[in-house]
Amino acid sequence: MVGKVTVVYPVDPMPELPEVETVRRGLEVRLVGEVVGSVEVRQPGILEACQVQDLQGLAGFRVSAIDRRAKYLLIRLEREAEARSLVVHLGMTGQLTYQADQEEATDTFRRLVSGYQKSVGAHKIDSHTHLVATFLSGARLMFRDPRRFGRILLIQACEEDDCPRLARLGPDAWKADPLALKRRWIERGGKRTVKAILLDQSIFGGVGNIYADEACFEARIRPQRILSSLSSARIDVLAKAVGLVLDKGVQNAGTSFRDFVGADGESGTNQEDLRVYGRGGQLCFRCGGVLHKAVVAQRTTVWCAKCQT
Ligand SMILES: [Zn+2]
Repeated sequence: MVGKVTVVYPVDPMPELPEVETVRRGLEVRLVGEVVGSVEVRQPGILEACQVQDLQGLAGFRVSAIDRRAKYLLIRLEREAEARSLVVHLGMTGQLTYQADQEEATDTFRRLVSGYQKSVGAHKIDSHTHLVATFLSGARLMFRDPRRFGRILLIQACEEDDCPRLARLGPDAWKADPLALKRRWIERGGKRTVKAILLDQSIFGGVGNIYADEACFEARIRPQRILSSLSSARIDVLAKAVGLVLDKGVQNAGTSFRDFVGADGESGTNQEDLRVYGRGGQLCFRCGGVLHKAVVAQRTTVWCAKCQT
C-alpha cells in the first residue's frame, strides 16, 4: 500500500481531454456489449434536451461503442434499426463509473475527480448520484456529480451534427497535425491571446486550463501573448507542445486531484508531471524563477516570467 498523499489545489480542475479519454478507455472495455435493463434518473436537472422518459426508453438498447469528442463522452446505443447517443459532459466534478454485478461499493470513490478507478469497486449511491443505468448482466453505470455542472443529453445518432453542444466544437486537439493546428489558430485566432485561443473549443476541442498552461510552458511562450505577435517558428513549437502535453496526459491516465492514492495504480498520475498548473508563487522547475499567477482569458493562469516570453 502507498501512504496517504494530500494534494491541495486552489480550485477544482475540470476534466479535460486526457481525463475524458481515460474514462472512455475504462468504460470501453467494460460497457460495450452490455444491454440496458433500466435507467433511473435521480436528478432530472442534469438532463439537457431530453426527458426522464427518454432515458427510461433506453431499456433493450445495447452499448455498441464509447466515443469521445473533445471533452464529451458519447455512449453509442443500438436496438435493431434504432441508434442513440448518450452524450455526457463531466462538468467540474462529474464521475462516470462502472460497477460489475458482484463488485462492492466503496467510500474511496468520494474524492475521485477524474472519474474512473477500476479495481477498488464503485462509488456508493448517495445524494450526488444523479443517474443509475442497470444492465441485464447486473452491472451498473453511475453518474455522480456533487457540483452539478455536468450534463447528460440523449440524441438520435443521426442528429449529432445538429446538437448545438457538439456542432460548435472544432476538431479534436489530440493527435491533430501541428500544421493544421497552426493554420486554424492563425485563421480563427486573429488578435487574441494564446491562452484564449487554446481554450476556445470552437477552434480545437479538448484543451482546458491545465493543458493550456502546460503547453505554453513547454513552448516557452507567455499565455497572454497575442498569437499574431509570435514568429511562425514559435507557433510551430506551440503546436507541437499541445500534442506533447496531451499525449503525456493520456499516457498518465489523466490528472487526478484527490486525497487518497491507492496501491492499485489505476488512478491518473499526471498531477505529478505538471510544471506550472496550480504552482503560482512557486519556483520554475526549468530556470528557478518565480511563477506568476494572474487571470488571462478569464481563467487563473500560471507562467514563468523569466523563461516564457
Ligand atoms: Zn522558468
